[in-house]
Amino acid sequence: MVIAGPSGAGKTTLAHALLEKVKRCRFSVSDTSRPIRSGETDGVDYRFLDEETFRRRIDEKKYAEWAKVHGDYYGTPLSEIDGGLSEGRTIVLDIDVQGSALIRAAYPESLGVFVVPPSMALLEERLRARGTENEDRLKRRLENARAELNHMFEYDYIIVNDRLEEAIGQLVAIVRAERHRASRLRRVE
Ligand code: 5GP
Repeated sequence: MVIAGPSGAGKTTLAHALLEKVKRCRFSVSDTSRPIRSGETDGVDYRFLDEETFRRRIDEKKYAEWAKVHGDYYGTPLSEIDGGLSEGRTIVLDIDVQGSALIRAAYPESLGVFVVPPSMALLEERLRARGTENEDRLKRRLENARAELNHMFEYDYIIVNDRLEEAIGQLVAIVRAERHRASRLRRVE
């Protein structure tokens, strides 16, 4: 399952809430070359690598997808997906729209959920409140958000993250319903 949408829309919060509420879900831990933020743990939120190591792993074909997002490298290791799927789990990918297009092409059975902020003004407010970016990086994220929003109708579901509890409920309902889709049950048998 891919959760996509602009940075600041609340994807990571939603993904973690989903993991608490629905069994047999696993968060896919990405590699990134961006600097670690306070409050993040290496190996839990991301695996933080230097650019050289990241590029070497690209050459070694270690990624199911990778992309340069806001100037830094991000990638989903193949091992995150394949290990979890063989255990029959829902693997939750919190990635950008470039990466999700690649995953959707490589795994046609994947489920795509797009998380939208209620407005651009609120997105800016959230990103500022988060306080993790300097002004330049914040501007870049907002410009990218506008471009990313053009892709929302390519997804299976759209969640407007206005009230968090409501958005969590919608995401949980989507995952539960998908698990009962006949075509997915047939595939498992
Ligand atoms: P942040 O730096 O705020 O944690 O993430 C920036 C953006 O990169 C977010 O939209 C996030 O979903 C995306 N991202 C995180 N991991 C990956 C990944 O493995 N691949 C891709 N393509 N995007 C990712």
